[in-house]
Amino acid sequence: MYQVHFSHGSEDELRQFASGLSARIAQSSDARTLVHVFNDTANRSVTDKATSILRSELPDALFAGCSTSGTICDGAFVASEQPNISAIVNVFEDPRTIIEVHQFPLNRKTKSETAEAIRELINERPWVKAVEMLTTLIDVGMADFCDEARLLPEDVIVFGGGALTSETINMWKGLPYVFSSAGENSGEGIVLVLYGGESFHLQTLTIYGWKPLGRHMEITRAEGPVLYELDGAPAYERYCHYLSLEDNDVFATDSVLFPLAIDHEDRTVIKALVDIGENGSITLSSDLASYHKRCRIAYGDPGTILRSIREGVCAIREFEPQGIMAYSCAARRKYWGDEHISRETLPLQAIAPTAGFYTGGEFCREGKELLHHNVTLVVVSIREGDASGEPKGEIVIDAMEFTRQMEIVNSLAAFVGVTSAELEDAYARLEVAARTDELTGLLNRGVIESRIEEALAERAADRDDEPPALVMLDIDNFKAVNDTFGHRAGDEVLRKFGSLLRTLADDAGADTPGRWGGEEFMVLLPSASLSDACAFAERARGEFTGLNFPISGSHTISIGVAQALPGETSDMLCQRVDKALYSAKEKGKNRVETA
Ligand code: GH3
Ligand code: MG
Ligand code: MG
Repeated sequence: MYQVHFSHGSEDELRQFASGLSARIAQSSDARTLVHVFNDTANRSVTDKATSILRSELPDALFAGCSTSGTICDGAFVASEQPNISAIVNVFEDPRTIIEVHQFPLNRKTKSETAEAIRELINERPWVKAVEMLTTLIDVGMADFCDEARLLPEDVIVFGGGALTSETINMWKGLPYVFSSAGENSGEGIVLVLYGGESFHLQTLTIYGWKPLGRHMEITRAEGPVLYELDGAPAYERYCHYLSLEDNDVFATDSVLFPLAIDHEDRTVIKALVDIGENGSITLSSDLASYHKRCRIAYGDPGTILRSIREGVCAIREFEPQGIMAYSCAARRKYWGDEHISRETLPLQAIAPTAGFYTGGEFCREGKELLHHNVTLVVVSIREGDASGEPKGEIVIDAMEFTRQMEIVNSLAAFVGVTSAELEDAYARLEVAARTDELTGLLNRGVIESRIEEALAERAADRDDEPPALVMLDIDNFKAVNDTFGHRAGDEVLRKFGSLLRTLADDAGADTPGRWGGEEFMVLLPSASLSDACAFAERARGEFTGLNFPISGSHTISIGVAQALPGETSDMLCQRVDKALYSAKEKGKNRVETA
């Protein structure tokens, strides 16, 4: 395959380009041609005119395109001027390569229907290796649409970008559109290009470069793309608090530098901030999913960005692409400024012809998940046939001349990152310590008490299961162990008993046991019959008496067991199990009694 580009010429120049290309394509009998047409204005008539020129010269070609907020051709951002059509042509020469273009309507009403139709389309075509999606995004929540992609065959790669226009990169106000050889120019649509065939190879890579900074915040209220609350306070207020932003104008420019890095299962998704809403909410550049619970403020660091480009370029070079498509976020353009933006994509051009556009959101499937990113650069490497094993092309990374000030900012950012990681770590350790009994590592009394209360409350809400049961265990004649063998020997017995109880509770599917105090322990069996709880107690008694301690020898325990009665409070239940334990002591110790 090969890739050629045309950008920003007159209609005559476009015609010349297409007819020249048509002659070249005719030389190979099996060639299939895919033309991406990108237009960085909302003016659809410009697109229609250009597409009709291309179609007349390349009648057999497939077309896919959208409005953009800027085009990448020959690895560089093409400054917007009139006329502003770009054509990126991928010519596939291997007869086994299959390319199809499809188009569907996409709006809030049709999106689940469309997601289903797309799934069906792909499932019916086992040859599909990769799916490119160009989509309009205005007013379409993409989180659930993306969730549907989990059901696609696992080895199908999905990538693409959201249409935008350069009149405004604020996608809530622009009028982006998509179009293709499979459908009309549409402001509510999705264009799919299906790629496959035996000798077709495609690899995607998402380049971030934005570094999560500072401590984690909880997303306490959000809906669609609107983030209402962070840590229970208005999101905008939190943002201003951490970044000491003072007014809305500053927010509009600076927020691009500080997008949100959202924990997404074991990955991070970056979302740009688009607008300040009512009541201190913030509108993000795309939807949050219901499972997005934690986030951090991210910082665009040129050093990190260039480092991730370098790593990316190395990996891409190994793949030996014959053509590269790049879907870069419009926010990156805003971040670097048009003067410097091509620093990111020119290194790709040194490997293979690189073209693409600045999007309103990038799509890239990782594992089963289709992620809807912002602020990233999704790089798609395409190749027909096997790699030669001898990667070509130079790795050229423009060395960024950092100003002294920038170096200081980077060091400060590193300082914030490291100190907040240390603080988070210390806080996490404190939290564990606050829950744990130091000697045995079991839960402390306060925690086990609240677990008992929770179990009773759950039981009250759902009466189908067995009620919870308590097992209270007390070492017999323990004072004598201390008095005879010393406190250390006593501690050793407590530790061993603790770890035995933890293992037994694990086996029984119960929560971690608690140390009730001194040599008394409590196990909560969240749903167990009285006889199951007694069996557990007998097992604990048997195993513990079987232990032989090097200094103090063997010991026995007495155990009380009680199952919660309807309406019983946790205090009442604890008193009953304590009574049962007392009765075991009364009856001669080393035994189990119920209450
Ligand atoms: P019984 O059979 O009736 O349970 O008698 P006992 O001696 O086990 O009970 P008693 O309540 O009289 O004594 C409990 C002892 O446990 C007293 C205390 O010194 C000891 N103890 C409490 N906490 C610890 C600890 O953390 N380490 C050690 N080594 N001993 C402890
Ligand atoms: Mg005792
Ligand atoms: Mg005791």
